[in-house]
Amino acid sequence: MELIDGKKIGEEIKKEIAAKVASIIDAGGEPPHLVAVLVGEDAASQTYIASKERACKAVGFTSSVYRYDSDMTEKQLLDVVDFLNNDPEVNGFIVQLPLPAHIDASRILERIHPEKDVDGFHPLNIGRLVLGLPSYLPATPAGIMLLLERAGIATEGRHCVVLGRSNIVGTPISLLMSRKANPGNSTVTLCHSKTENLAEITRQADILIAAIGHPGFVKEDMVKAGAVVIDVGIHRIPDDSEKGYYITGDVDFEKVAPKCSYITPVPGGVGLMTIISLLLNTFKAYNHEIYP
Ligand code: NAP
Repeated sequence: MELIDGKKIGEEIKKEIAAKVASIIDAGGEPPHLVAVLVGEDAASQTYIASKERACKAVGFTSSVYRYDSDMTEKQLLDVVDFLNNDPEVNGFIVQLPLPAHIDASRILERIHPEKDVDGFHPLNIGRLVLGLPSYLPATPAGIMLLLERAGIATEGRHCVVLGRSNIVGTPISLLMSRKANPGNSTVTLCHSKTENLAEITRQADILIAAIGHPGFVKEDMVKAGAVVIDVGIHRIPDDSEKGYYITGDVDFEKVAPKCSYITPVPGGVGLMTIISLLLNTFKAYNHEIYP
C-alpha cells in the first residue's frame, strides 16, 4: 500500500506557482489578487479562510478577506458581489459557504461573474465542465484530479465508483473521471443514499472516491484488494487530546489501507489540495485563461 501524499504534492505545486508569481513581480507586474467574503462566525469557515490566506502569502498572491456580521441582508451581500465583480484590482473571489439561513446561497453564487468565479460554482462554469470546455473546476474535485495525476494513477478504462452526489464533490468528480482526458476516461458509477447493494458496487471499484459525510463509513469488506481509495471526508471527532478532537475521513483507514494499492490519508490528503486548486484557479483568472 502506498499513501498519496497531499502535503508533498501540494508543496510541489505551491513552489511552481510561487516561481511564476516571482517572475511576474520581477517583470514589474502586480501579483494575482484573491478575495474571500466571509459572513458570520462559522468556526470551520474561519479556519478555512485562515488557511487560504496563508497559502496565498506562501505563493506571493495578494489576499483580502471581507468580513461581515451574520445579520447582513441578502441585498447587502449582492452589492458586495457586484462591487467585487467590477473591481479591476480583484482577479477572483469566493463567497465562503455556508451562508446564514436568511441568505439564498444560489442567488449569491449566480451573481458572481463567471470570469471571477474561482470556486467554480457558477452554473456557467459547471455547464462548461459538463461540456468538457475550459472552466474553473470546483476546488475539491480539481484537487482529487491533481492527486491522481501527480501520483501517476492510471484511470483510463478503470471502474471508478463515487460515493455521494453533492454539487461540490460527488457530481463534479464523477463528470471529471468520465471525461475524455487523462486523468479521466474511467467508467463511472455514482452512488447515493438510495443506491441498493452499495457494498456490491463499491467492491467492483478500481478507484473508489468516498464523499459521503459519514466518518469511517467505508469498511474493508466494501473494498476490492488493490483498489485506489480517495477519501474526501473531513470530520472532527471530540476526544481527550489537548486539541479536544481528532480529524478523520469517510473511510475506516486502519482497516481499509492494508487492502489498497494507494490511499489518501485524512488529514494530509484531499483536504490540502482544495486550497491548491483555488490558487490555480486564481492564477487562471489572472491570465484570463478561461474567458480570454
Ligand atoms: P453532502 O452534501 O452531505 O453529500 C453527501 C452525499 O452522500 C449525498 O449525495 C448523499 O446521498 C450521500 N450519502 C449519504 N449517506 C449515504 C449512505 N448511507 N449511502 C450512500 N450514500 C449516502 O456532502 P459533501 O458536501 O459532498 O461532503 C462529503 C464529505 O466530504 C464530508 O465529510 C465533507 O466534510 C467532506 N468535504 C471535504 C472537502 C475537502 O476539502 N476535502 C470539501 C468538501 C467536502 P443523497 O444525495 O441521496 O442525500
